[in-house]
Amino acid sequence: MPNRKEIFLCAINNILSGTCQEDCKFCTQSVRYHADIQRYNYKDISQIVTEAKMAKANGALGYCLVTAGKGLDDKKVDFVARAAQAIKAEIEDLNLIACNGTATKEQLRYLKAHGIDSYNHNLETSARYYAQICQTHTWQERYETCENVKSTGLALCSGGIFGMGETLEDREELLSAIVSLSPESTPLNFYHPNPALPIKTRNIALEESLQIISKARSMLGEDTLLMVAGGRELLFTGKEEKMFEAGANAIVIGNYLTTKGLAPNKDRHMLENLGYEVAVNCDTH
Ligand code: SF4
Repeated sequence: MPNRKEIFLCAINNILSGTCQEDCKFCTQSVRYHADIQRYNYKDISQIVTEAKMAKANGALGYCLVTAGKGLDDKKVDFVARAAQAIKAEIEDLNLIACNGTATKEQLRYLKAHGIDSYNHNLETSARYYAQICQTHTWQERYETCENVKSTGLALCSGGIFGMGETLEDREELLSAIVSLSPESTPLNFYHPNPALPIKTRNIALEESLQIISKARSMLGEDTLLMVAGGRELLFTGKEEKMFEAGANAIVIGNYLTTKGLAPNKDRHMLENLGYEVAVNCDTH
């Protein structure tokens, strides 16, 4: 049983931003919605390593290399693998997660061989509701990528987004689908509205969000990482103990993909004030 007084920190680096042709209605990185975000091509690997060192110094145990776009191609696989190698060469004990969309087993094996420990691919919402929020690819493709991750021996990080207009049944279905994959870690995101996006409001409030965390914890069991990721600041600022009491044992520190988070030292103070310790290794047992 994990020590619930220990909280795991994860940081995200958006290493290729805002240039995606897909139409996910919740995503500011789709070029279709012209959201006012930073868009850039691949970051320099030296900059990625520097940023990884900062995240590690701030207590991150997990470091996620994210690229915009539907999925991996040869160029992306090569770049992520080189970035992973460069980070691993300079930083010890940092769990590297790749989040690069749909992926084949071959691509995933290549990433694993070059230092990636875990792959993040979220199911986002229920299979039924997914067609309402994305028409350019299917929920099934997402599920298949998660299965590919499992079959290659990478740890799977898979979760979703709540508050995009889905029903209670959709939420239940999403949680059941996530559980069916037995992920090692699960990020729960709470929709962050942006005026440029087709989904204008978030249809979830604090109490329901806590119920989802609690339900996810009971369905996933005690030995997994359950992370509150995007939307944490909108829903839980000043009430963080509620999400930990409901079963969350991990948070994202620093910025998200296209939205600002709190300064990492503020989160560390928050944890300290609540009597939580920052986890120093990835063993949840
Ligand atoms: S595929 Fe990924 S990056 Fe592209 S619009 Fe969808 S969520 Fe955003």
